[in-house]
Amino acid sequence: MNKKVLVFTETKASALRQVSLEALSLGRRLAGEGTLLAAALGSKAADYAPTLGEYGADQVLIVSDARFNEYQSDAYRHTMVRLIERTEPDVIIAGHTANMKDAAPGIAARLGYGLITDCTQVEFEGGELIYVRPIYAGKAFEKKRFTSGKMFVTIRPNNFKAEPSPADAETIPFEPGDIDLRTVVRDIVHKSTAAIDLLEANIVISGGRGVKKKEGFAPLQELAAVLGGAVGASRGACDEGYCDYGMQIGQTGKVVTPDLYIACGISGAIQHVAGISNSKVIVAINKDPEAPIFGIADYGIVGDMFEIVPLLTEEFRKR
Ligand code: FAD
Repeated sequence: MNKKVLVFTETKASALRQVSLEALSLGRRLAGEGTLLAAALGSKAADYAPTLGEYGADQVLIVSDARFNEYQSDAYRHTMVRLIERTEPDVIIAGHTANMKDAAPGIAARLGYGLITDCTQVEFEGGELIYVRPIYAGKAFEKKRFTSGKMFVTIRPNNFKAEPSPADAETIPFEPGDIDLRTVVRDIVHKSTAAIDLLEANIVISGGRGVKKKEGFAPLQELAAVLGGAVGASRGACDEGYCDYGMQIGQTGKVVTPDLYIACGISGAIQHVAGISNSKVIVAINKDPEAPIFGIADYGIVGDMFEIVPLLTEEFRKR
């Protein structure tokens, strides 16, 4: 393999997103002896160049411009198209984030790139690169390959390893020029106050209707704090008003892929499972031994979550 690969990186709360480093590591693999380019946008873009170099970028294209501090479709699409036209990569990689779900299809169509989204694995099969992605809400996987040499891939967070591969990254400033902004972001109102991003968390503890009231999330928050995890929820819990919809996991919520997922008082409806099925280890705590969640859990605890969760917290605190 000898390809030119361009990775679009993203930031959240002034830090590089973990999925951007995962994309770089995949990019390094796909580039082989070829060139790995990383694009960083925003007023602090230059600050990220050393880290991008550590994860294998040969060149970092810096768009140092405050207009990119928050995602805006017109600005991002305009500039991503210009960057692609300037660098002419064989492969483009980005995280399968809300922003890139918005930007990638239009860009791929406009520039004639094939697009495979939400990829969870890339493997060699019969001398070809095969891209694996979940379908039917995670009940099956499809294997796809590109038929053209121009490829755009978005990857699901937490599925590819971010591995340092130090290179001496050359930084190249890039000027996006005038942008016709048809809309502007006036304000961003943060609903979820989760310190750790659910999408990138290695440990997720979720509560369902079984938490019974808003305060029922308190033991889960405590366990999450001890384990360094994030707290999520089922739609049942959100619908009851026990928590914010920003915490919802599932088909119409967030798709999480942690190493450890602990479901507390969640029955395991198919729409919830769609958002957790790629977790490495699933633990279910439910007082109903017949709850469907036990059908997909690696470990099940039958009992009252209000007794079990504090016991787990106490045990983990000792370690
Ligand atoms: P329930 O099904 O009511 O389960 C509560 C569970 O808590 C029960 O199993 C009970 O035994 C257990 N329990 C109660 N008390 C305790 C206790 N003290 N200790 C231990 N266990 C206890 N759902 C999602 O989650 N995410 C989605 O994205 C989503 N999208 C949907 C999209 C569509 C189009 C539709 C139709 C539905 C969607 N749903 C989604 C809803 C889904 O079908 C379920 O209704 C929902 O997941 C149920 O939430 P729950 O498991 O918290 O509640």
